[in-house]
Amino acid sequence: MLHLINKDRCSRCHDERQVRYCLRTNKNLGWSCCNEQRIDRKCPSECNYCVPAIDANSIPFPAFKADSNTEFRHLVQLYVDQWIHHKNPLFDLETPAQRAASDPSFMLKWLSSYRFPLFFPLPYLAHKLHLEIQFTEPQSLSPEEVAAAYLDRVIAMEWNQLRQFTINDLDLNGVADRYATLLSELKPLLKLNRYDVISSGVSEDQNTAFVYFELNHKTPWTLILSPRNGKWMIRQNINGSPQEFYAQNKLFTELTSFLSNGDEASAWHVLERCRELFPDSADCYYYGGLHSQLIKQNDRAKVDFFNAITLDNHWASPYAHLAMLNLGSSNFQEAMYWFQKQSLLEPDDPKIVNNIAACYAGMKDMDSARRIWEQLLIDHPDFEMAQLNLDKLKNGI
Ligand SMILES: [Zn+2]
Repeated sequence: MLHLINKDRCSRCHDERQVRYCLRTNKNLGWSCCNEQRIDRKCPSECNYCVPAIDANSIPFPAFKADSNTEFRHLVQLYVDQWIHHKNPLFDLETPAQRAASDPSFMLKWLSSYRFPLFFPLPYLAHKLHLEIQFTEPQSLSPEEVAAAYLDRVIAMEWNQLRQFTINDLDLNGVADRYATLLSELKPLLKLNRYDVISSGVSEDQNTAFVYFELNHKTPWTLILSPRNGKWMIRQNINGSPQEFYAQNKLFTELTSFLSNGDEASAWHVLERCRELFPDSADCYYYGGLHSQLIKQNDRAKVDFFNAITLDNHWASPYAHLAMLNLGSSNFQEAMYWFQKQSLLEPDDPKIVNNIAACYAGMKDMDSARRIWEQLLIDHPDFEMAQLNLDKLKNGI
């Protein structure tokens, strides 16, 4: 029987995505197959993924190289399955399983005295040794755990449960519903029924983490996370590998240059590419808003800026644009709402306060407008705009 050979699959199982070249078999393998093979410690030592030899008299577990916590856990579990049944000098040449059965309190003491590496699956080891141990829940989840919890909600189509995992935590009119809507419109997520971790990592400055997945056995997808108040939160979905994340600034710079030169067609071309790769990027919607303004479609620009706010609650620029567009179309109430929210992100900016006063003036609430401008002059004596507006008010312009 003939089978189509899928070139990106593991040469051993033909199922998982291939991720590394195996020096032992001269084939491209996925990480599960690599783990199942290297666990026998017969891999050539030149391979970075070779499980190294250890001095069994002093060290129970070797240092394992893995590209994600998921892979690390899988490898350690395979190792533990063998380790518990091998005679070990640390336990007077009994096997760990024998010692745990004959003297569980000794084994418990040994387990609690050993410094296990981060993400070591200690509950798995305890379970295999038939030891009853109460483990406290970790205080914060790893990027992979947060990303998995997020994708589990996607599979369950609980779109309104996603935002709680993201950096977007401000209480703003309509953004919670809009976030759910925008994410539910992303086709690869809409069809999601399984995900597999390919790799994960944290930047050196600890400010960015990525988790690289394969969705539905075929689509590469990356979640970008940032720490907020000691927890990892989802910042962005990338339709592709982590490399795309690092390429986005270049594309946005190109986009800015086309937009500032008024080259609408070229800007649109880059924008379409960006939207494909960075489907929930606040920047994409923000630049989309600028593009809509360029082609004089202000209503569409308002939607774009609102979407940008939805996808990054803490970025002030889209607030300013949305508010100005509303001010320009005499939607003073709406404009004031967004200026006020902007001023929470950029406190003490006299221009924003000036705009809030302008909204009051637009709504014919001259007393409030005057009060704000007078206070502005006290707080920022050099801010001429406040004096100009007060003069205008006095002269009834
Ligand atoms: Zn495989």
